[in-house]
Amino acid sequence: MGYDNDCIVNIHSIPGEYFCAVCRMLIIPNEALQAHCAHLYCKRCLAYLVATTTACPYDSYTVTEASSKPLVESSKELVEAIGKVAVHCLYRRSNCQWQGTLAESMAHCAKCNFGNSLFLCNRCGNQIMHRKVQEHAQICLGVFGHAQVVEKSQAQDATVATATIRLVGAALGNQQAALRLPLLGCFWAFN
Ligand SMILES: [Zn+2]
Ligand SMILES: [Zn+2]
Ligand SMILES: [Zn+2]
Ligand SMILES: [Zn+2]
Repeated sequence: MGYDNDCIVNIHSIPGEYFCAVCRMLIIPNEALQAHCAHLYCKRCLAYLVATTTACPYDSYTVTEASSKPLVESSKELVEAIGKVAVHCLYRRSNCQWQGTLAESMAHCAKCNFGNSLFLCNRCGNQIMHRKVQEHAQICLGVFGHAQVVEKSQAQDATVATATIRLVGAALGNQQAALRLPLLGCFWAFN
């Protein structure tokens, strides 16, 4: 799974090669694989591709697990360059103001209290912590996809906000927003 594209500071300035060829999210260097054709993939996206078409979406070269390498082994330069991309906290929609590099964000997000803000899943009715939203959407919807909170309305009541999680369906190629799941933020744990 890549980094939420809505949490990248200046996404248009970033080279296209930094994004996963399947889900088109910014790859997380320590978790990425580089295919024989040099394109980058999230682990899960590469596994998905290998199980389906095996053709790299960019150049149609055959992608296999055997011919792909962890990026940390194949290109230290790319790991370093991608690690310097300026990002917001993954929980900026829960009001975190932190900004830093992608490399620093892993440590920040792991302990960021805003990640504990609660959302109510309109589908199953369970309360989900912001940091579990992506994971939850995959379980709740039972499909392969990447979920992200994409919008939050300016709710009049400060304790209530509306959000939507969007699934970017890798199963549907590169079509975005394959499925929308409305979420209602019921309260903010740290406001
Ligand atoms: Zn991916
Ligand atoms: Zn390729
Ligand atoms: Zn944060
Ligand atoms: Zn649910």
